[in-house]
Amino acid sequence: MHIQNVEFLVSAVSPAQYPEPLIPEIALAGRSNVGKSSFINAMINRKKLARTSSKPGKTQQLNYYQVEDWFYFVDVPGYGYAKVSKKEKGKWANMLQTYFSERENLELALLIVDFRHKPTKDDIAMKDFFVHYNIPYFVIATKTDKVKKSQWSKHMSEIYRTLNLETVDQILPFSAETKEGREEAWEIITDVLQG
Ligand code: GDP
Repeated sequence: MHIQNVEFLVSAVSPAQYPEPLIPEIALAGRSNVGKSSFINAMINRKKLARTSSKPGKTQQLNYYQVEDWFYFVDVPGYGYAKVSKKEKGKWANMLQTYFSERENLELALLIVDFRHKPTKDDIAMKDFFVHYNIPYFVIATKTDKVKKSQWSKHMSEIYRTLNLETVDQILPFSAETKEGREEAWEIITDVLQG
């Protein structure tokens, strides 16, 4: 996939700030520091367009990127960050609920998890959220470059079991470092957008 034009559009908190839903959008959810911005950058072959977060959980906003005139990538950052107050967490949960329940042009959610670790409670909650709101989703297990090939199937089945997925094919092993899984991720995206 060769992408030429990608533009950061806006950071949004409430529906009034979302861009017009004229093209489809794909949400990327995952805990802070899991590798969401690196995923976007690897997908569009840029080094630094999506800001890799220096302060986990600080920017509790939906960051919109427009890919050509084709679709929006929406970076949904930072759930489950321990240092955020209860009140902040409540605000955050409300914002997510509004977004996932109301956004009409949302066609796919990608849950980014760390290939090395068992998915967290927040990862499970996020996946349940997608099921509840009937949002097609796929799990991207990133940072595969940090795991020996001989250990891969063990990590795949742990993610599969912990997230209680229907099939292990719902998980795509990915690495922003080696670009493992990049072509397959584009296939998933094009299939959904053409479907
Ligand atoms: P975000 O907070 O989810 O946007 O996470 P970032 O994309 O900023 O990544 C957090 C850290 O993980 C950074 O230091 C990245 O360089 C590193 N990282 C992200 N993806 C990968 C990967 O596939 N492999 C390796 N080895 N490191 C990664």
